[in-house]
Amino acid sequence: MDKPAINGGTPVRTNRINYGRQYIDEADIEAVVAVLKSDFLTCGPMIPALEEKLCRITGAKYAVACANGTAALHIACLAAGIKEGDEVITTPLTFAASGNCALYCGAKPIFADVRSDTYNIDPKAVEACVTKKTKALVAVDYTGQSCELDELIKICQKNQMVLIEDGAHVIGTEYKGKPNGSIADMTTFSFHPVKTVTCGEGGAVLTNNEDYYRKLILFREHGITRRADLQEKPSHGAWYYEQIALGYNYRLTDIQAALLLSQLNKLPLFSKRRKEIVARYEEAFRDLKGIGLQREIAESNTTRHLYVIRVREEELTIGRKGFFDALALENIYCNVHYIPVYYHPYYEKMGYEKGLCPVAEEIYDGLISLPLFYGMTENDVSDVIKAVTKIALYYQRESK
Ligand SMILES: *Cc1c(COP(=O)(O)O)cnc(C)c1O
Repeated sequence: MDKPAINGGTPVRTNRINYGRQYIDEADIEAVVAVLKSDFLTCGPMIPALEEKLCRITGAKYAVACANGTAALHIACLAAGIKEGDEVITTPLTFAASGNCALYCGAKPIFADVRSDTYNIDPKAVEACVTKKTKALVAVDYTGQSCELDELIKICQKNQMVLIEDGAHVIGTEYKGKPNGSIADMTTFSFHPVKTVTCGEGGAVLTNNEDYYRKLILFREHGITRRADLQEKPSHGAWYYEQIALGYNYRLTDIQAALLLSQLNKLPLFSKRRKEIVARYEEAFRDLKGIGLQREIAESNTTRHLYVIRVREEELTIGRKGFFDALALENIYCNVHYIPVYYHPYYEKMGYEKGLCPVAEEIYDGLISLPLFYGMTENDVSDVIKAVTKIALYYQRESK
């Protein structure tokens, strides 16, 4: 039997592969250089061009580009009117920002458990968390698989909650044939370099609702408006603007917008390649004892942002930590998405305790995110498959 490198065997490869990497080509570079030579580095024509393109891709009526995915979540919560004393339901199996956006507004994040097969927020758990104080649901499309939007919309409508879809993973995915981004009350995107398309740092909020749109623009730009119809006092002249709310500077630059416009041209290509890599992983791991896979619902035509496996300790003599370290010695550098948000000391100090969401906690205990990005070669994919298979076979538990 092939020995894992951690037991003195030969690593499957000599150069390191990481779990994610951006893909930047000459067209991207030229797009950025063109802005650098133009009149506007920020507040220029690239922003509306990008927003139009995001609308075209998703079918949403309005798009508001902003500084990053976290800022997008923050202004979405502000536009939803979330304030002190409110409760906002979200999943624990996400990046901290999905809970922090409620805290920014003085509201309390409430964690609803996930489904044990899809790892997405469980509509039944959401319903059980609703109280008189619940204002919104921040639903994450974990790994890029759409959450069960129809069920969640029903719960939100019944309880007068705003549905904010944290779509940081979801660009390129369709739910029941419609692109995610055009379905929830508001959907947020992130364009961090490990996400499917990137501009370094960047984000956006998509909505079909004009009132949210107006507020999102306002909160992105200091709460300042030049629109006469929104101003409270008479204009002093052509230069006049008014601050009518407390907003932020969450703008995206034209440099970033140009990069993202160019990246979005490649979204179909990125999406296709990610699907191919996922198909190879699924084929290789489907029957591999000791490895659990995320289930895909038929309603989601998924562009995966992450590919996660679960190390099943009941079938292996090695746990997640051992498996993770063994992969690193094969030169496969993975990651874990995510540490349940309420495990963090900051949340613990607010009173959240282990045991709150047992399904998410159990999933976390086995999770590993394998490399998944556009630039992976067939050989890279083969190396990951070889390493995972080698380690899983070496550590099989004797069946009783
Ligand atoms: C990346 C991410 C964010 C935050 O996006 P940034 O652009 O890094 O601020 C929020 N939620 C989820 C689920 C993410 O993966």
